[in-house]
Amino acid sequence: MPPATDDVIAALAALRAEIEACTGCDLHATRTRAVPGEGDPASDLMFVGEAPGYHEDQQGRPFVGQAGKLLEQLLASIGLTREQVFIANVLKSRPPNNRDPRPDEIAACQPYLWRQIELIRPKVICTLGNHATKLLTGDPAGITRVHGRPQATEIGGVRLSLYPIFHPAAALYTPAMLTTLKEDFLRLPELLTHAAPGAEPSAEDRPAWRPPERPPEPAAPVGPAQPELSPADDVAPALDVSGPSADEAASVDAADPPVGDAPAADPPAPAAPGKAEQLGLF
Ligand code: URA
Repeated sequence: MPPATDDVIAALAALRAEIEACTGCDLHATRTRAVPGEGDPASDLMFVGEAPGYHEDQQGRPFVGQAGKLLEQLLASIGLTREQVFIANVLKSRPPNNRDPRPDEIAACQPYLWRQIELIRPKVICTLGNHATKLLTGDPAGITRVHGRPQATEIGGVRLSLYPIFHPAAALYTPAMLTTLKEDFLRLPELLTHAAPGAEPSAEDRPAWRPPERPPEPAAPVGPAQPELSPADDVAPALDVSGPSADEAASVDAADPPVGDAPAADPPAPAAPGKAEQLGLF
């Protein structure tokens, strides 16, 4: 992987400054700092989350809370550090109280993400959770249905593999989802190896990404509770898990009522049944 050229580095710096000054949606009025994204501009691997949470908003950096710690552990499981990948979000500014991104906000921010992709030209983009997955695939299919399955696509003239996985914030609260997230993550090195620059994975390659023992959707891979886990994932960024401790995260959750669902089968999840329906997810 050759280092990024000076031109790319300069263009990303200019883009960063543009994002930090952006007033393209109402979120600029409530954010503390914009969170443009960070990492190795020459990386083959890019992660796209949903939106900054409390700590990201404070620091101007993506995934610096509890979800970020889990992301770092997952990266370590495949021998990578966060400095070796590029991490960005669909939204560059925090929605108040970590509410879901609104369509107008996503539309206003999308060009920034597209330009980041054009400059970084990753082989693989891992979309974290529902919002990033739906935006980049252009498909309303939810993360529970599509996680762990690479999709060849082209974004901003860059041919790449999209690899949807559960959002780490959701997995923090749902052990079955964490297991699935870890399994999906472990397939990344092979995907990176196969995803040659500008090449799409062949149809023959695709079954390799599915473990043979995985039952057909929707029964597996998170077990019988899976249908109830999807909404929790969808609202994952509403779970303010970016605090430095579980206790703090919990207290922030309590302060931020519009948090994710607590599936009946998953008592630890700080959620309210019916949120999925409120969101029109199902
Ligand atoms: N969740 C996200 O989606 N993005 C962040 O940067 C942090 C938490």
